[in-house]
Amino acid sequence: MIETLKTENIRELICQLCRQFYLLGWVSGTGGGISIRDGDRIYMAPSGVQKERIEPEDLYVLDLQGNVVEGPQYEEYCVSACKPLFMNAYHLRNAGAVIHSHSLNAMLATLISGEVFRVTGLEMMKGIEGMNIDDTLEVPVIGNTPHESQLTDSMARAMREFPKTQAVLVKGHGVYIWGKDWKQAKTQAECYDYLFAAAVQMRRLQL
Ligand SMILES: [Zn+2]
Repeated sequence: MIETLKTENIRELICQLCRQFYLLGWVSGTGGGISIRDGDRIYMAPSGVQKERIEPEDLYVLDLQGNVVEGPQYEEYCVSACKPLFMNAYHLRNAGAVIHSHSLNAMLATLISGEVFRVTGLEMMKGIEGMNIDDTLEVPVIGNTPHESQLTDSMARAMREFPKTQAVLVKGHGVYIWGKDWKQAKTQAECYDYLFAAAVQMRRLQL
């Protein structure tokens, strides 16, 4: 059951979360972002804007096919470059929200992994759907491309190959994480980020 919020609350919520993610270093330099679905409407930010400064009226509203049904008044804006990647999570996983993070932890985790990031035995794994500490958490790592939208097919392939994963890492770039609603997407993103940081530290400490 997807929680329904008032439209103005979703817009405000996205701005709040962007400010929070900015402070975590997940959306600095205009990269990264969050999209939330509310019933048959999908909200996302414009492309290439400072995410910590967006206002509720700057957001785009899309239908489930990804067509823009409502947009900001500024002609220089266009919808987030992450749109087709966010749509992957909505279409393939029935997600309620998707976060794209350029976190240094996620980026470094891709550099110490091959095609799959793996971790086991850590308490924070319990924050990821279907995981317990004696499982092995696997996150596929796909190759980066010059343009964000070119990741669409390889992300979809990785999602089909790893039906349990709630995230897809992008080499030298960051991560896409989704959840059944914005709360789960956010808490899973926090747990994944901790696990990526832990794996990087464990490698450094040669554990
Ligand atoms: Zn990105």
